[in-house]
Amino acid sequence: MCDYIERKLKCGHYKHIVLAWCANYRRTEIKCPPNVVHWEHWSDRNCGDCQPPIKLAPAWESMINRNKTSFSL
Ligand SMILES: [Zn+2]
Ligand SMILES: [Zn+2]
Repeated sequence: MCDYIERKLKCGHYKHIVLAWCANYRRTEIKCPPNVVHWEHWSDRNCGDCQPPIKLAPAWESMINRNKTSFSL
């Protein structure tokens, strides 16, 4: 089995990062069940899918300004 890191992110998603492919995978290229050898909890990072947009498109700016009063920081 291949060794993986299981990373829990702020958004609640999990990422599996392969540490090492086993000999079986290298030979057959068929994925085997992940063998998680290390767990991480990133409480300050979202996954790539949940990353807030870095740059707002102009079309969104007016909407955000209109809703500004509903945000509490
Ligand atoms: Zn494997
Ligand atoms: Zn996410």
